[in-house]
Amino acid sequence: MASGGRLPKLVRTRQFYTGEPFHTAKAALRGGNNRSPLLFGHTLQARLEAEILNKICTGGQWWAHPLGVAAVETSAQSAVVHLDGHTTFRRGTSYPRSAHALDNLLPGTESGAQVSGVVGLRIAGINGPNLRLTLVGGGCDLVLRGTPETDWGVELDKRWERFEKAGEVPLWHAPQLTADEEQHIREFPLDWNSRRRLDWLGSALLRRIAVFHTSSTAYSCHAWIHDDEWIFELDTVRGIELDHDAFLGRLMDPVWGVPLRIRSQFCSCNRHQRLGHNLYTLQCTYHLEHADGSGRGGLQLRFRHGSGTDAGDARRTLTSVGAPAGWLDRVLPTSSPDVSPPARHEGRPSRWSDGKGRS
Ligand SMILES: [Zn+2]
Repeated sequence: MASGGRLPKLVRTRQFYTGEPFHTAKAALRGGNNRSPLLFGHTLQARLEAEILNKICTGGQWWAHPLGVAAVETSAQSAVVHLDGHTTFRRGTSYPRSAHALDNLLPGTESGAQVSGVVGLRIAGINGPNLRLTLVGGGCDLVLRGTPETDWGVELDKRWERFEKAGEVPLWHAPQLTADEEQHIREFPLDWNSRRRLDWLGSALLRRIAVFHTSSTAYSCHAWIHDDEWIFELDTVRGIELDHDAFLGRLMDPVWGVPLRIRSQFCSCNRHQRLGHNLYTLQCTYHLEHADGSGRGGLQLRFRHGSGTDAGDARRTLTSVGAPAGWLDRVLPTSSPDVSPPARHEGRPSRWSDGKGRS
């Protein structure tokens, strides 16, 4: 793709988006497409990637990286998602990211009831720490890469047994779409169709998931879908500049970014603004839509700041789950009035360390 001194710069730019190791990003650039270095997935591939983002990258638990993914490697028709190791519950119990992913992804049903997990998701194979996923209909491919000690086979067997004991039918090895899955699609057409209008966006964001780590000032992300919008709530503590323009610039970069344009915006981050009483939370809200004006589903970004975004002892919890020290120093500096000094709360349960109730 490029040669000489330009290549290392391009590699670093790619890493800002993907989080890949240097050599992986370099190899991808050498064999890649100059005009669209982070190609979009299409059709079922886009849906598969969007389902992963929607089900397991919602925030709500502390991971080493804001959405629990350290890096993503992509090509036109495949993606490898590098999962973080674990989260920490109250009293220090850890829970593997691989188990969390399966809890949220695997499809199952009680006869006649709504299907849980991802409709049509199927296990295509296991190779060491790699779990290969696909959708009924094929032509798409996504690998979840766990830590080296991850045993996907054992985790899947446990859940198969658990489903059967609960009177549910596990669906992740069914060769075709089952009657219950077809019924689920028929019974929830609005929900199903609005999700499909967001597949392009979910895929594009998953392929650039490292921007939430490398290019945002937020220490915490929380994401969900409402109607035809994918909403991301990003919390930044006081004491550092809320630089949402830098994040937006990277996200909407004409070469590397997602083809988005700003539909409307409301900004509350005047640096001379008085922030009011202790629990006051301010929010800069951006509504973004596809740059081609096609009216597909869009993205809402909520940049929250002010003293209401107090991080408590999040820094200690994030350190315990392996968050990179350089990132912590950037987004949770101990000089911030919203960051508890580590020693002060030792032995006390974290406000959020049970991994719940962050919404
Ligand atoms: Zn603002």
